Amino acid sequence: MTNSFMPPRRTLMGPGPSDVHPRVLSALARPTIGHLDPAFVDMMEDVKRLLRYVFRTQNKLTIPISAPGSAGMETCFVNLVEPGDTVVVCQNGAFGGRMKENVERCGGTLVMVENAWGEAIELEAVEAALKKHPGAKALAFVHAETSTGVQSDAAALCELARTHDCLSIVDAVTSVAGIPVEVDAWGADAVYSGTQKCLSCPPGLSPITLSDRAVEAIRARTSKVSSWFLDLNLVMGYWDGDGGRAYHHTAPINALYGLHEALLMVEEEGLENAWARHAKMHAALRAGLEAMGLAFQVDPQHRLPQLNAVKVPEGVDEAEVRRRCLADYDLEVGAGLGGLAGKIWRIGLMGQSACTNNVLLCLSALETILVDMQANVNKGVAIAAAHEALG
Ligand SMILES: *Cc1c(COP(=O)(O)O)cnc(C)c1O
Repeated sequence: MTNSFMPPRRTLMGPGPSDVHPRVLSALARPTIGHLDPAFVDMMEDVKRLLRYVFRTQNKLTIPISAPGSAGMETCFVNLVEPGDTVVVCQNGAFGGRMKENVERCGGTLVMVENAWGEAIELEAVEAALKKHPGAKALAFVHAETSTGVQSDAAALCELARTHDCLSIVDAVTSVAGIPVEVDAWGADAVYSGTQKCLSCPPGLSPITLSDRAVEAIRARTSKVSSWFLDLNLVMGYWDGDGGRAYHHTAPINALYGLHEALLMVEEEGLENAWARHAKMHAALRAGLEAMGLAFQVDPQHRLPQLNAVKVPEGVDEAEVRRRCLADYDLEVGAGLGGLAGKIWRIGLMGQSACTNNVLLCLSALETILVDMQANVNKGVAIAAAHEALG
């Protein structure tokens, strides 16, 4: 006989998932009801309203896809990209590379605009690509590159897309609820997010929102969407709700209770307050790390408060530091990806994880471990610097 699985208690300060509040965990454990039950249908309407709130949009088609962030990405591409469509993809990290994969798999014609990992997307290069490919159907980019901790200028990129009569496809998985995402003000067309980053829900759902222009583009398709599960023409029949709901797949009922609760918590705090909290916790973490003598990978003006890419000091075994964080402090921090593997740590301050206790725990754990490993860091100053920044 096997025992029940009892996970250890961790503090999650990696690139996701983030810490989940007990309110959300207990919502997940409420009784399962039918996915066409009128009580459940009412809650779905509430989820749609709350998602419009966090996306800052009036878009009617604003729903959670029943799978993690990657499925939101795939939903946007399989519905909007038909074979032969030209799509400009910006890549400045790992997730832009997945957008490229998606275009290829949809049979689209790919135009890449590449920037170095750790840098923001360069607007001039995007504009040049759009001018060179006037027939392009979509411009796709990552707002908050979790692989590097870089924020790109989503407002300007969406505007460029509009000016060139392109649809914009925006990855806002890590940005929603952590930094401003303004779907309507940007005029963005297809935006997807995830539950496990700054919304602080367990992974497994992917909120998306589509503009009327994007919905028209889907309706105007000449070929069937290649994925049955992610075909929005079918998914809309279930989530649309005006009149009866058509069974498409069984919604992940309890996961949606969790999302509902997490969204309520964002609404109770206020979206602007949540953004301000992420900025403040980032400032405190930064003050502590810099006092210790550690440096950031990304320019100050492009840094994400919710994902801190911190350079590993010379001669330090970065994996050993993460191993000790987990073993001695129950603290998870993330490793670098791609060309930054071994060179940076990725310290997440996402959602519930963006709090004073986490910042202080992380600074104290890193300091103790690095001093013990005889790394060249300043001792005894990080916590004071963080407190100073917290005010
Ligand atoms: C985490 C992440 C994804 C993928 O989300 P999953 O929930 O892991 O599928 C996509 N894009 C970005 C920018 C992310 O940070």
